[in-house]
Amino acid sequence: MSAASETATSTKAHRAALDWIRSGGKRLLIGGEWIEALSKKTFTTINPATEEVLTEISEADTADIDLAVHAARQAFESDSWSGISPHARAKYLVRIADAIERHAEELAVLESFDMGAPIAYSITRVHSAAELFRYYAGWVTKIHGTTNPTDNSRFIYTLREPMGVCALINAWNVPLVMAASKLGPALACGNTAILKPAEQAPLSTIRLGELIHSLELPPGVVNIVPGFGPTAGAAMALHGDVDKIAFTGSTEVGKRILQASSGNMKKVTLELGGKSPNIIFPDADLDRAVESSVIGFCRNSGQVCSAGTRLFVHESLHDKVTRRICNLASQYQVGSPLAQDTQMGPLISRKQMERVLSYVDAGKSEGARLMMGGSRVGDIGYFVQPTVFSNVENAMQIAQEEIFGPVLSIIPFKDEDDAVLKGNETSYGLAAAVWTSDASRAHRVARALKSGRVWINTYAETDPVMSIGGYKQSGYGREMGAESIEAYTQTKSVLMRL
Ligand code: ADP
Ligand code: MG
Repeated sequence: MSAASETATSTKAHRAALDWIRSGGKRLLIGGEWIEALSKKTFTTINPATEEVLTEISEADTADIDLAVHAARQAFESDSWSGISPHARAKYLVRIADAIERHAEELAVLESFDMGAPIAYSITRVHSAAELFRYYAGWVTKIHGTTNPTDNSRFIYTLREPMGVCALINAWNVPLVMAASKLGPALACGNTAILKPAEQAPLSTIRLGELIHSLELPPGVVNIVPGFGPTAGAAMALHGDVDKIAFTGSTEVGKRILQASSGNMKKVTLELGGKSPNIIFPDADLDRAVESSVIGFCRNSGQVCSAGTRLFVHESLHDKVTRRICNLASQYQVGSPLAQDTQMGPLISRKQMERVLSYVDAGKSEGARLMMGGSRVGDIGYFVQPTVFSNVENAMQIAQEEIFGPVLSIIPFKDEDDAVLKGNETSYGLAAAVWTSDASRAHRVARALKSGRVWINTYAETDPVMSIGGYKQSGYGREMGAESIEAYTQTKSVLMRL
């Protein structure tokens, strides 16, 4: 965390990000204008690596959400977005992708400052965000209804139409990717949007709002409303004139959103927590399995909903794999997010750090073996060591609850049935992985796992064409892939007597 390593990426992008942060006055984008919150209230966001305040941001509350919903409603009803040529709409999405790429380094530095991810990772996330917008640009001209079979006296067809006003609420762990995976399909399908970034890391989303604003989309099509969950977020979920809500965050808040949305029967998609099983059979390519499994629980300091936090290892390999995982994880560079060689930055907040450390205590007191890590790194910034527990039992708290930190539970299994049984013994079902060189077993296990996503011989690879979503309490509906188009449209069937 030396000054020298701080400057490793820096140069122009670093300066651009800092200048932007210091220019202050971060506001709400409502109806095509950047305005202060009606209450004039602001909140601060901090750099979790230094604990320093980065800047102040206008804080949206119920009255501002009302304004934003009104602006989005007007834009929707005016047909300025849903009514224009799909080719024109697609072009806007391509331009958003281009703008993100033109500002990729600046956005990545901003995100690293605000939420602590290593710069090398942030850069890949920014490019993923651009790729998502490009993917959805491709969809715009391919969203259509059907002509349905009937007799000669009738004509039956369907129209695929936008939902209307979409409220989009995000978590803080991959802000731009989440913004793209919600705004992309919402806009592609002709909806208008109100996007609330998480209060812990709103900056890259606000900057994205500026880039979108500079492309002169019709006013009110994209509104950005930074603010807190129980106020701004709750107002979005409750609002009677919001047609659809898409949320990423904790299962607990997801349940609340589902209840709030019932007032006017909003269409809902929820991307919630996970406790994903990552299963290594004895015939796996162990080098790759070990390397990916470490990335699977350490990437983004474990603050990934699909993190591979339960590692099931065949009992014959348990000790060997545990040793190798610890060897590799102990070499992880924990440090300044802005240093090029950093592999793990801090956690998002003091609260999150304390939560993660309390799970370490829980693991120890439940009798799991702490093989490495388990402590804070340094005394400034919310850094926690990669942490590995072995001989974990699936019923322990550390194997059942989402920790959202770099904490791995290694659990031995006897055979395929045992692995599947234990893998599925969780209230979550977001992601899973299986490592084996037996193709039949790979597909058998992929089918048997109750999870919205399964990787075979890899972990955490994503692609816009691949949907994500939860079985069980990991969510409702799907994001990304073709299914996301369904999540942002509704069909109308029309019958005409000839
Ligand atoms: P995390 O624990 O990962 O921060 P949360 O579920 O608390 O996840 O928050 C995710 C997002 O949901 C954030 O944007 C937050 O502001 C918002 N949020 C939190 N509580 C509510 C709520 N009651 N209603 C709507 N949104 C909320
Ligand atoms: Mg921050």
